[in-house]
Amino acid sequence: MKIIPHFINGQKTEGAGQRRSDVFNPATGTVQAQVALGDTADLEAAISAARAVFPKWADTPALTRSRILFRVRDLVEKHADELAAVISAEHGKTIPDAKGEVTRGMEVIEFATAAPEILKGEYTEQVSRGIDAWTMRQPLGIAAGITPFNFPVMVPLWMAPMAIATGNCFIIKPSERDPSASVMLAEIFKEAGLPDGVLQVVHGDKDMVNAILEHPEIKAVSFVGSTPIAKHVYATGTAHGKRVQALGGAKNHAIVMPDCDLDKAVDALTGAAWGSAGERCMAISVAVAVGPVADALVNKLAERARTLKIGPGEDGSNDMGPLITAQHRERVCRLVDSGVEQGATLVVDGREHVISGHEEGFFTGASLFDNVTCEMKIYQEEIFGPVLCVMRAPDFETALKLVNESPFGNGTAIFTRDGDTARNFTHRVQAGMVGVNVPIPVPMAFHSFGGWKDSLFGDHHMHGPEGVRFFTRLKAVTSRWPEGIRGGAEFSMPTLG
Ligand code: NAD
Repeated sequence: MKIIPHFINGQKTEGAGQRRSDVFNPATGTVQAQVALGDTADLEAAISAARAVFPKWADTPALTRSRILFRVRDLVEKHADELAAVISAEHGKTIPDAKGEVTRGMEVIEFATAAPEILKGEYTEQVSRGIDAWTMRQPLGIAAGITPFNFPVMVPLWMAPMAIATGNCFIIKPSERDPSASVMLAEIFKEAGLPDGVLQVVHGDKDMVNAILEHPEIKAVSFVGSTPIAKHVYATGTAHGKRVQALGGAKNHAIVMPDCDLDKAVDALTGAAWGSAGERCMAISVAVAVGPVADALVNKLAERARTLKIGPGEDGSNDMGPLITAQHRERVCRLVDSGVEQGATLVVDGREHVISGHEEGFFTGASLFDNVTCEMKIYQEEIFGPVLCVMRAPDFETALKLVNESPFGNGTAIFTRDGDTARNFTHRVQAGMVGVNVPIPVPMAFHSFGGWKDSLFGDHHMHGPEGVRFFTRLKAVTSRWPEGIRGGAEFSMPTLG
């Protein structure tokens, strides 16, 4: 059985930990490898390598760090097909979708290559007579990233280039369900010239997460995952004196106004709800149909749900691949059961969906519910599967209230042709990322990514300017120099006083 190793101090290693966890091929349902789960000795080995290299890395000029990141960027582009193949094999998403994820991750590297610019401080001359003041941003030390299964390349790349460009050492603890891509990334950074110990990968499950959260030498933790774990990570990490940004789950609503271009909205919702089998934190899982548009919207969505091409991710012509594990598929199907029991109208039922030749794969079809209400479990819980819930609202105000009362506030969108409605929505909606006729409004790398409410715990969003702030400490210097030698040469014998 293939063992997926850690990457510690520039080397692949199976480490000291004896536990292993199965890594499935979700399209066939078979175990394709096992990941070595680290123990505290493995974490200590990584910390010790990082401790040794940190002073030198922190003192390395930002431009030198940036030049390494330029090479990393080129290598990621060169290896994009291999990275996409690894993502697809372990996660199950389609190859074109996986390539898109690699590109979005690469964009964060591109932003981080601007290290000399993004680390510039502020300067005020003459804050008082003969006194100047300035600020500088310095690295925190050793930071860690704990990442989810659904973006095995993009999410580690939301974090690592930012941490490294700003002079930190970084340890990734990837999802144990698709851990290979992080190791590939670490090898790419090494090939680009990154010193050993600056970027490392230590695998594990909750035990490793807790060891990271409690380790006194880890100064910051960047987490992305489900809301209950994000809450735990934030509470434990901050209780141990760390800076924590913990991005959680989501229930993203799209408001569909009667004046929208309905065909375009249906196209957008089809991709946003069922693409990547709904396993995206920015997936649209609730469409709020306003007024008379509802029937036409449901009919058109149903037609699309029934005709999606579903199959293994390696076939790039498929629209949607399998779910990540058999347990997750069971959970999604149980939630669909609950929707039926609680009285929602199941317009398209994706529960039984067998792919010929892949009978053991973790597939479901796309599901579509109509007449969903706030009391239903399918509305309250993040399903994280290919299930779209349609709710009906009589007017814009009711629809907006619904979005704002959701405990989640990751992304949201509105489909309309009216600028005033769109502006009113963007101004008043309680969510961190907002789309206007854009279904998945993931900010570009030079902006920052993050939700509100139960979708983010901590003060900083991910990457972009917020990422620079998260991974650095601010230092303010106030400086006065006594009179120097401006007076010119002295010819008499110097004396004290
Ligand atoms: P998860 O919360 O199960 O796992 C995330 C990480 O936490 C993994 O590395 C895992 O090993 C670790 N972990 C799991 N259980 C733990 C426990 N009990 N204690 C400590 N650590 C634990 O999430 P997932 O299923 O891998 O990913 C899907 C979730 O991530 C969804 O909820 C999705 O919305 C969310 N997500 C959010 C964003 C965002 O930007 N807000 C982005 C991607 C995914």
